Amino acid sequence: MQHEFPNGRILRLVRGDITQVEVDAICNAANSGLRGGGGVDGAIHRAGGPALMEELNQIRAAQGGCKTGSAVATSAGNLPAKFVFHAVGPVYQGGRGNEEDQLASCYRTCLELAQERKLQRISFPSISTGVYGYPLEEAAPIAIGTVFDWLAELRTTVEEAIFVLFDGRTLAAYENALRARARGAAVRW
Ligand code: ADP
Repeated sequence: MQHEFPNGRILRLVRGDITQVEVDAICNAANSGLRGGGGVDGAIHRAGGPALMEELNQIRAAQGGCKTGSAVATSAGNLPAKFVFHAVGPVYQGGRGNEEDQLASCYRTCLELAQERKLQRISFPSISTGVYGYPLEEAAPIAIGTVFDWLAELRTTVEEAIFVLFDGRTLAAYENALRARARGAAVRW
């Protein structure tokens, strides 16, 4: 499924493995220690090779880890991309913390990193909805809404943003969110 904006930007949803999709930058769902983990983080490090962790070690030595809601950039090693943006999503705490802002901030920060590097294509996983426990039905509209607004308002050099979603349930939740957002946005135009 995809949504094409009047300004030509494209927001695309596909089911698949994010390490297999060629883009300029792959966004990773990392942890604040930047030490690698399971899920999509493990898959990205396995496919990317040791170069990613070597760069993350340097970043950790220079600035500690990465705070929740932010992201750091490395090269992409053996992945079909130029960069990996390691974003740290919030651990879900029942919505009592600042999780919504922090989740939106992950996507915004990655789009800013893409903008700084003048990149055209970026991919995202469903940040925080795995081990970090963010309910899919809450996370999907936040993720979609943040990227949708960014593309609609031409705030970025990014021409195409692709959510690469690992399973059918996640894809369906993002499709629902995109359909709802596209209907709402049509009113504004
Ligand atoms: P978090 O700790 O942020 O919750 P996880 O990696 O546990 O991150 O899960 C985030 C999402 O990434 C989940 O929907 C999971 O199914 C998905 N995922 C796992 N492996 C991949 C992959 N290779 N490509 C795309 N998405 C993946």
